[in-house]
Amino acid sequence: MKTIVIGGGPAGIISALHASKSGDEVILLEKMNSLGKKLLITGKGRCNITSSFPMQDFISNVPGNGNFLYSAFNQFTNKDIINLLEKEGVKVKEERGHRIFPVSDKSKDVLDALLNEVKKAKVKIQTNTKVERILVENGKAIGVEYNQKDRMYADKIILATGGKSYPVTGSTGDGYKMAKELRT
Ligand SMILES: Cc1cc2nc3c(=O)[nH]c(=O)nc-3n(C[C@H](O)[C@H](O)[C@H](O)COP(=O)(O)OP(=O)(O)OC[C@H]3O[C@@H](n4cnc5c(N)ncnc54)[C@H](O)[C@@H]3O)c2cc1C
Repeated sequence: MKTIVIGGGPAGIISALHASKSGDEVILLEKMNSLGKKLLITGKGRCNITSSFPMQDFISNVPGNGNFLYSAFNQFTNKDIINLLEKEGVKVKEERGHRIFPVSDKSKDVLDALLNEVKKAKVKIQTNTKVERILVENGKAIGVEYNQKDRMYADKIILATGGKSYPVTGSTGDGYKMAKELRT
């Protein structure tokens, strides 16, 4: 199976890792010239990685009905991300309010660890690739259109383009439009 992941932030990187571990050939498309630009500015450059609260508390702190996250939060927990980072040599510490940070206080160490994992998983990375549209045939996503003219096809598409804040990090809300188009 071939999987295309759209967006190289933490969500796209972790999705790519999991798709690759499940045996897929994975290509990650990122519109900026490098991955994880937003991750680098998190926690004022220190990256508040996660919290040590039980996962049930994560769900109850989601505004509205957080229960839809139950399955995802149980399949990849705060302990899983800590283990993944520690495997790559990133030690973590707990601060006031149950917040978990890298001991180095450098978000770059977190990003480098994720990129190293992606490299080991043999995920292909294509930067400077702005996806504009998800191609659909007979009600199924079959590929993407990018950089205004090119097309790429796959069995599965993962949309991980993040939200809409700090445009210089690539966060411009493109995914909202693409997701909305899938409903029409
Ligand atoms: C100032 C600030 C501080 C923060 N601090 C923390 C913190 O300490 N801890 C924490 O947990 N969270 C923090 N956050 C929130 C955190 O940054 C986001 O929750 C996280 O980055 C979301 O990850 P993501 O992968 O979903 O999206 P993003 O990190 O936004 O990644 C999306 C990626 O998709 C790419 N992309 C977008 N459109 C396209 C397209 N059309 N084609 C191809 N690629 C595309 C983007 O360039 C980007 O690389 C902070 C946010 C901000 C703004």
